Amino acid sequence: MKRRHFVGGLAAAAGVAACSSDSADCGAGAASAERFEWSAVTSWPPRYPGMGMAIYNVAEQVERASAGRLKIKVYAAGELVPAFEVFDAVSRGTVEVGHDASYYHKGKVDAAQFFTAIPFGLNNAEMNGWLYYGGGLELWRELYDPHDLVPFPCGNTGVQMGGWFNREINSVDDLKGLKMRIPGLGGEVLRRAGGTPVTLPGSEIFTSLQTGAIDATEWVGPYNDLAFGLQKAARYYYYPGWQEPGPTLECVINKDAWASLPDDLKAIVDIACKAVNGDVAAEYTNGNINALEQLANDPSVELRAFPPEVLDYLESIADEVIAELVENDPASAKIYESFKAFKDKSTLNQRISEQAFLNTRD
Ligand code: CA
Repeated sequence: MKRRHFVGGLAAAAGVAACSSDSADCGAGAASAERFEWSAVTSWPPRYPGMGMAIYNVAEQVERASAGRLKIKVYAAGELVPAFEVFDAVSRGTVEVGHDASYYHKGKVDAAQFFTAIPFGLNNAEMNGWLYYGGGLELWRELYDPHDLVPFPCGNTGVQMGGWFNREINSVDDLKGLKMRIPGLGGEVLRRAGGTPVTLPGSEIFTSLQTGAIDATEWVGPYNDLAFGLQKAARYYYYPGWQEPGPTLECVINKDAWASLPDDLKAIVDIACKAVNGDVAAEYTNGNINALEQLANDPSVELRAFPPEVLDYLESIADEVIAELVENDPASAKIYESFKAFKDKSTLNQRISEQAFLNTRD
């Protein structure tokens, strides 16, 4: 009864006719008539395939499921705020919703990186297992609470590719002097291996690679890489994407805006984010198989596996980088303890299930 009074009060305050707690129209399951019009900002180009479509799809599903009671207008990167200011805009309440990747908040909230991807971390299925059932999402919400943000997992690219290289990587020595576009912790790993990491927005990658300003780049995987035409700027396409084994994208909602929603709209938003979290991964699965077929048949492209000793070396450096992060930041320490415990337990299960099964396909 208390909650109904509250919702009715809000609706009345907004000048909208609403049921009162003793009205016959306000029986079990009756929805508040209050309408919400929200704005969402993103880090992506307009309607960019995969990651960029996630928030448009959330908005569309929420509007339909709520019969128009909650409308979310989406603004692509730069339309309302710059690509990397999503966190601040939603935190301040300039807009109600944002869609981006939590590792962009490195430097502001270092521990946020664990909720997108860390080098040699968790794959897509494992991220979902950890976030939804292994305590990850609670830790994420606790981390963002002081910033007035409520995060939701909202998309996953699946394991990425190692990237496009204009030189061969046959040994760890070939990493020395390598100028590569690779952001985040992966970039720090490359730096310690003797390379020079560069951070560039997606839109600048092709030209930088083609002109030789950089020797290599990672971006996402076949689906998004083909869309940028990266195969026209580099010869060697290396795998696997050790730097991002299954990055989760985030939808963030301003805490006050979230609190203002009645329970049924909260449920609709929650379900829409869960649906889109899976849908983005499905879009990547389909997009990647088609794009990879095209790239694998392109005579100018050489698909290469990183040599095992190169991956072992990068993994040992990644362990050092993460150990330092954890040592210097209590929030990272707490989150990594949960992340690592999940990963350690998960490895045996992955090995005897997905990995063993996929090995039978050859
Ligand atoms: Ca990437």
